[in-house]
Amino acid sequence: MILQKSTKKERCVLDMRKENCIFCKIMEGEIPSSTIYEDGDFKVILDINPAAKGHAIILPKEHYENIYELPEELAGKAMVLAKKLAAHMTEKLECDGFNLIQNNGEIAGQTVFHFHLHLIPRYQDGNNKDLLTWNVLQYQEGETDKLAELLKID
Ligand code: AMP
Ligand code: ZN
Repeated sequence: MILQKSTKKERCVLDMRKENCIFCKIMEGEIPSSTIYEDGDFKVILDINPAAKGHAIILPKEHYENIYELPEELAGKAMVLAKKLAAHMTEKLECDGFNLIQNNGEIAGQTVFHFHLHLIPRYQDGNNKDLLTWNVLQYQEGETDKLAELLKID
């Protein structure tokens, strides 16, 4: 894929988003948060509207809008951190399962346009049993072959 240089207008829109970004404000200490972990690259805070008690979000300190913008190195580090926190939180919270969720774009449920990875503890008797259920589609004959061909990557 060829990455196009952003125009002045596009850059302006990005700056405006960053300017008003709630997570950047949290990074700057302008908005309070309950922090459970911090290093040079990330801050991990409790989500203010949790799907379950203990629901946390991993935030890169730098503003990247989504997975497409996030540098590969940080993406790798975020997943390593998620694994560490999943184990730690599961032990501390004694939860029965754990979801990692990451939304990109409005249609995908993203509401804050600063990359973040949700860490959601799940409980057998929790209140969000259908957090991740969707209506399944059916493939036409031959459709999976075509799609697999389209999506093949080295
Ligand atoms: P998403 O819908 O994937 O973009 O998730 C954004 C998340 O940010 C939501 O779960 C919100 O509850 C959470 N959130 C928004 N504002 C704050 C805040 N000030 N502190 C902690 N979490 C927040
Ligand atoms: Zn931001």
